[in-house]
Amino acid sequence: MDFHCHLDLYPDARNVYAEAQKKMDFVWLVTTSPRAFAATSKVLRQTESIVVSPGLHPEVAAQKAPELELLLHQMADAVAIGEVGLDGSARYRQHFDLQTQIFSAVIKRSQSLGGRVLSIHSRAAANEVLDILEQFPGFGTAVLHWFTDSAPLLRRASSMGCWFSVGPAMLTSANGRKLAAIMPMSRVVSESDGPFAKASGNPIMPWEASNVEEQL
Ligand code: MN
Repeated sequence: MDFHCHLDLYPDARNVYAEAQKKMDFVWLVTTSPRAFAATSKVLRQTESIVVSPGLHPEVAAQKAPELELLLHQMADAVAIGEVGLDGSARYRQHFDLQTQIFSAVIKRSQSLGGRVLSIHSRAAANEVLDILEQFPGFGTAVLHWFTDSAPLLRRASSMGCWFSVGPAMLTSANGRKLAAIMPMSRVVSESDGPFAKASGNPIMPWEASNVEEQL
């Protein structure tokens, strides 16, 4: 199973999709913008085992902010939402207020729709992500993807009922292994984050996500 994959962004996406459909029990294809979701879901259709979700990645918040209304509309018919979240790292912090407006609107909408499952990016912003989740009880289920923040914040997330998706790339760092070790075992799932995440220089494939299971 792969709970976070940018399957549409592999150079040979159609083949990766066909192979994943054959050999995997579950793939969560997260998109990075509402218009990308609209285009992708026409070509790579959602199936019983492949979920395709609308998102708005915090790294492109400034460029894609005008698509927020489209995302809120798409959310009505989607069981899963992602990739969404906040990025407080130096490169993206300049648009943090805008990211916060977008992410808050998405979580508020999830709440008003009766709950959604969300794949959430929280690089250098876990505290702010959790603050927003707390503001909207009943928003659904948060799956924090590739969590890299501190152990105390991981414990806070865990006590709030968050899930965690962990991939092979995360377990190559000492901090990643330390954080994985204190995650609640019953709420950890595997992810690839391919093709962005790499192993030995090659994009991690969806069917390689489960390589983390033994290590976990
Ligand atoms: Mn991602």
